[in-house]
Amino acid sequence: MTKGKLYVISGPSGAGKGTICKKVLEEDDNIRFSVSMTTREPREGEEDAVDYFFVTKEEFERLLAEGGLLEHNLYVDNYYGTPRKQVVQWLEEGHDVILEIDYHGAFQVRDAYPEAVLVFILPPSVEELRARIMGRGSETEETMNKRLDEAMNDLAQADKYDYRVVNENLEAAVEEVQQIMKIERSKEA
Ligand code: 5GP
Repeated sequence: MTKGKLYVISGPSGAGKGTICKKVLEEDDNIRFSVSMTTREPREGEEDAVDYFFVTKEEFERLLAEGGLLEHNLYVDNYYGTPRKQVVQWLEEGHDVILEIDYHGAFQVRDAYPEAVLVFILPPSVEELRARIMGRGSETEETMNKRLDEAMNDLAQADKYDYRVVNENLEAAVEEVQQIMKIERSKEA
């Protein structure tokens, strides 16, 4: 059986990567989404095993020591990582798998799986990104500024990815990601 393809989707907060992933997943039954593990507290409305696997620092470190994580990163005092087992199983079964992770994790995945396809989602402009982050309204000025700084760091990594998709229009961005997946699948044939 042909193994599945591993896709990593990154982009700054506010670029719309989550919405794009959701749409891509809705439209293709063969694709699976890897739920990350984190030590941060759940936010309101977040569900365990859906948004993240919420674990203690001890649990995270144990899995890390056992080699159970495909990649991980420490971000603002909390660990984030991709549980290895499920991803490997899905790939073996022939499913394509999407990881929605930051660039630190993306480059670890590329080291471990050179055949992984890295896609970076860009906002149409820095002004637009600023407006989207500020427009969320749920953040304090301090966290918004911090997210903005992080977003600028993220943007600087875009040219190291295999593909860049500008999310000016959601439908078009989703189609572009689907097109990338089609191209990558055709390389296997
Ligand atoms: P948040 O706390 O806002 O959900 O996520 C914070 C950051 O961690 C975001 O940049 C997000 O992309 C990143 N992130 C989420 N899951 C993972 C993961 O499994 N691995 C890595 N390396 N980063 C992750």
